[in-house]
Amino acid sequence: MMHCTVAIIGAGPSGIAAGVQLTRCGIPTVVLEGGAVGGLLRNAHWVENYPAFPNGIKGIDLARRMEEQLYAIGVELLPQSVQAVDWDGKQFYLVTSTQTIACEFLVIASGTRPRLLPDQIVEKAAQIRIFYQVVDLNQPHQAKIAILGAGDAAFDYALNLAADNAVEILNRTERKRCLALLWERAKCLPTIRYTPNAELLWVESEGATGLRLTLSCAGKTETRHVDYLLVAIGREPNLGFLNPVFAQQLVMLETAGQLYRIGDVQNGIYRQTAIAVGDGLKAAMQIYHQILEVSK
Ligand SMILES: Cc1cc2nc3c(=O)[nH]c(=O)nc-3n(C[C@H](O)[C@H](O)[C@H](O)COP(=O)(O)OP(=O)(O)OC[C@H]3O[C@@H](n4cnc5c(N)ncnc54)[C@H](O)[C@@H]3O)c2cc1C
Repeated sequence: MMHCTVAIIGAGPSGIAAGVQLTRCGIPTVVLEGGAVGGLLRNAHWVENYPAFPNGIKGIDLARRMEEQLYAIGVELLPQSVQAVDWDGKQFYLVTSTQTIACEFLVIASGTRPRLLPDQIVEKAAQIRIFYQVVDLNQPHQAKIAILGAGDAAFDYALNLAADNAVEILNRTERKRCLALLWERAKCLPTIRYTPNAELLWVESEGATGLRLTLSCAGKTETRHVDYLLVAIGREPNLGFLNPVFAQQLVMLETAGQLYRIGDVQNGIYRQTAIAVGDGLKAAMQIYHQILEVSK
């Protein structure tokens, strides 16, 4: 069994920041990442609120810089997804598909998972053209894309795709929940169409030609033919790998300073990169000081 002092679940901005700081402090640390290093940030069209980039930076480029820093500092990264976590009163045990890792401190930096469309409105064959992150679309070209949602992510996705595709944002209600500046930018672009009061009723496959969406638009039934559907209807903490018994011990372990939840997984509506990075740095410093205290 592998053993380390600290294990970090997730290599998004918060996990990277924690991993970099702990490694700098000389504390044996591993970071486990089940997807792509950089996490959700890789989707951000243009990040304008992360200090040190006066003209903004693409999320994918900022994520790449963070990844480079991870390697430059020599953080140990395991490309493995954590499937379960256990605690025996002294150590944590992280189970991945290939091994079990024991550690004394656990940092959960697993971010959020998307709210999914209900199965009953999606034909099974249509699933293949439905996405929840813009990076998974793999830079489509001249495609027709419907985006479901009306928050920052939906508008950010639209701005990301509009240069090369025709996009329609479908909002279930009248109310937009995005930053005013995203709306201002979106409404100037002829390749972005915005439709309020459009409720998605049914998604079906049209084979190789795409998807057929059935909508209720202000009470009238309408259809759309699109290549892809991108869903941005909210996100929730990603803690599915914790069994209910362990989940009940989270607060106790946090109070004892053994476990830390950092970044989007615990930040509610305050899901921003700089906050996630700050959380990671703080957790790393707290762990470092605890280790120093014990060794006095
Ligand atoms: C479209 C969009 C635009 C955005 N724009 C901005 C912006 O302009 N400015 C800004 O500050 N923020 C922006 N954000 C938010 C920013 O991306 C997040 O706040 C940030 O990525 C949170 O970092 P995190 O490390 O907490 O979580 P995440 O980035 O979600 O990283 C979590 C990581 O954990 C991994 N993971 C999860 N479960 C497991 C497991 N069981 N085992 C192993 N690995 C696991 C995931 O694969 C992921 O890589 C945007 C987000 C989106 C979607």
